Amino acid sequence: MGKELEDALRYGMVHPHAQPIVDLRTGAPLGMELLFRTRPGVLQGIRPDLSINVAEEVGLIDAIGFEMLRGACRLLKEPAIAGSDLVINVNLSVHQLLREDFPDEVAQLLAAEAVDASRICLEITESRWLDPDGPSRVLLNRLVDQGFSLALDDFGTCYASLLRLRSVPFRHVKVDKTFVQEVEESEEAFALCRAMFEMAKAYGIQVTAEGVETPEQRRILEEVGYIRGQGYLFARPTPLEETPALMMELQRSARRAALN
Ligand code: C2E
Ligand code: CA
Ligand code: CA
Repeated sequence: MGKELEDALRYGMVHPHAQPIVDLRTGAPLGMELLFRTRPGVLQGIRPDLSINVAEEVGLIDAIGFEMLRGACRLLKEPAIAGSDLVINVNLSVHQLLREDFPDEVAQLLAAEAVDASRICLEITESRWLDPDGPSRVLLNRLVDQGFSLALDDFGTCYASLLRLRSVPFRHVKVDKTFVQEVEESEEAFALCRAMFEMAKAYGIQVTAEGVETPEQRRILEEVGYIRGQGYLFARPTPLEETPALMMELQRSARRAALN
C-alpha cells in the first residue's frame, strides 16, 4: 500500500475532501474539516485512517500533510470562502509536529499563498498529544503565536486531565463521535458529553460534537449547550471543488429556516 500512496502523491491523486462544521441551532456553517481522500480508483476500498497509518509508517505523512495544507490554502482563495469568516481545520500527524522546522515550513507556505493563519485551525488527537514522545508545548505555542488556532481532536478517548488541557492554548476540543453516537441510549455517554462540555466551557474552550447523525442526537447536544457540530446529519465529506457551493447552500438553508 505504501507504493500506491507514493504514486498517489507523485501523480496528483490526493483529493482532499471537506466536511462542514455547523451551528447546531441553525445549521449555518462555521467552518469545515479537511479529510484525506484519493481519487477514484486509487487505494480503492481502503479506509482513510488506514492509509494515514501506513503513510506514517512509510514516511509519507509529511508530504500528505503538506498536500492537505495546500488544499486549505486553495479553498481559502475561493471567493465564497475568502469573503467569509469560515475557518478550515486541518488534521496534523504527530510526525509533522515533531519536526522543529514545521512551523517555519507552514509559515512559508502561507506566505507564498497569501493566506492568513487565523483562517486555519490545526487538529491534533488527544492520544498523540498525551504521548510523552508527542509534540512539545513550545512547538504548539509557536504555532499559536503564528496565528493558527489549535483543536484537541477525539477528546474524551484518553481522559486528558484538566491541568494538561490548560497547558496548551487549545481554542477548541472535538468530542469524539463514540460518545455522540451513544448519547441517546447511554446515560453514561450523555453524562460524559455533558461533563466534557462543562469542562471545556470552564476554560473558555469551544466544543465541537463530532459524528452527529440523527436529529435526536442534535437535539440532546443542543439542550446540553453545544453550539458546534459536525456529522452526516449535516453533510458528508465533499470534494474541495464542490465545497464552496455546499457552504453557500448551508448558509442559504439556515437563512430560509430562520425566516420560517
Ligand atoms: P477524525 O479526524 O476524527 O475525522 C473525523 C472522521 O469521522 C472522518 O473519518 C469523517 O469522515 C468521519 N465522520 C464525520 N461525520 C461522521 C458521522 O456522522 N458518522 C460517522 N460514523 N463518521 C463520521 P475519515 O475521513 O475516515 O478519517 C478518519 C481519520 O483519519 C480521521 O479521524 C483522522 O484521524 C485521520 N485523517 C483523515 N484525514 C487526515 C489528514 O489529512 N491528516 C491526518 N494526519 N489524519 C487524517
Ligand atoms: Ca480530526
Ligand atoms: Ca475526531
